[in-house]
Amino acid sequence: FAKQNGRNQYAFYFDDLKKDSKRIIILEAELRKAIQNKDFFIYYQPKIGLAKQDIIGVEALVRWNNVKLGFVSPAEFIPIAEDTGLIIPLSEVILEKVCLDILESRSQGKIHILPVSINIASVHFQQDDFIERINSILMQYNCSPHLLELELTERTVMKDSDDIVNKLVKLKAMGFKISIDDFGTGYSSLSYLNRFPLNYLKIDKSFIQQITNLQDKQAIVETIILMAHRLHIKVVAEGVETIGQVKLLQQMGCDIIQGYYYSKPLAAKELMDFIELWEIYRQERNI
Ligand code: C2E
Ligand code: MG
Ligand code: MG
Ligand code: MG
Repeated sequence: FAKQNGRNQYAFYFDDLKKDSKRIIILEAELRKAIQNKDFFIYYQPKIGLAKQDIIGVEALVRWNNVKLGFVSPAEFIPIAEDTGLIIPLSEVILEKVCLDILESRSQGKIHILPVSINIASVHFQQDDFIERINSILMQYNCSPHLLELELTERTVMKDSDDIVNKLVKLKAMGFKISIDDFGTGYSSLSYLNRFPLNYLKIDKSFIQQITNLQDKQAIVETIILMAHRLHIKVVAEGVETIGQVKLLQQMGCDIIQGYYYSKPLAAKELMDFIELWEIYRQERNI
């Protein structure tokens, strides 16, 4: 009986595996097609500066709605794109779309243009021609690097090699701003922080979401903020959902807030409305 049971469990496990690998195969094939058709949307999540309560920039986040699969989360398809190398053409499609949206908002002229941050995958950053290819897309759309911020994860810069330092120094000199995303989740030494020309540290949401009830998370966040400021790096808190979190982060000297508390990621048109309403709100409050 035990043996039978064991075999059934094995069968279940095997079924799950088959289902998973089948989905991955379909996802990869659909992803390939979608990249060719440039079938993605970009959503933008506002970042709010605490000092002046202003919108200091937005983060571009890719969205994919597939005919067969429906909405697929980037948390699911980005890792597959990374494993298959599709992340490179995908990231170029994303960058093109961001440039087009910047052009569009510039042509409307009524709203000054906010810096946009884009997420850069490790495998993409490691390409030898990373800088040249990004640059050629920007030139094609007449878009200045001064409008862009690159979000790299700790994992990407962890190795602290001369090659990475050189790339970052070059990008910074071209006008890009550099952020470390999901800070605190890597197992990196902090030694790279003062070797790299960084503008922002983005503290991972797993810390932020527990700061109001866990003393040790609060201590970690407070320490990250102090350390970053000593190194002249600004701090962004991501995943901020409550006023309690905003107040606590403000007390700790955090510079910038990103999260559902202020706004979810928005379609480009919705973002324009958000910016206009925000201006009215600020004028009313005399900020
Ligand atoms: P990330 O770069 O750390 O982006 C932040 C994620 O947190 C986004 O999820 C965002 O929608 C979500 N978020 C924002 N505020 C809140 C909040 O208050 N609460 C909670 N629970 N979540 C919040 P999203 O858009 O699903 O993206 C997930 C991850 O996928 C991103 O994490 C990033 O690593 C990757 N990703 C998304 N778009 C791109 C892209 O265009 N290129 C690349 N290479 N990766 C991307
Ligand atoms: Mg990010
Ligand atoms: Mg993040
Ligand atoms: Mg992330």
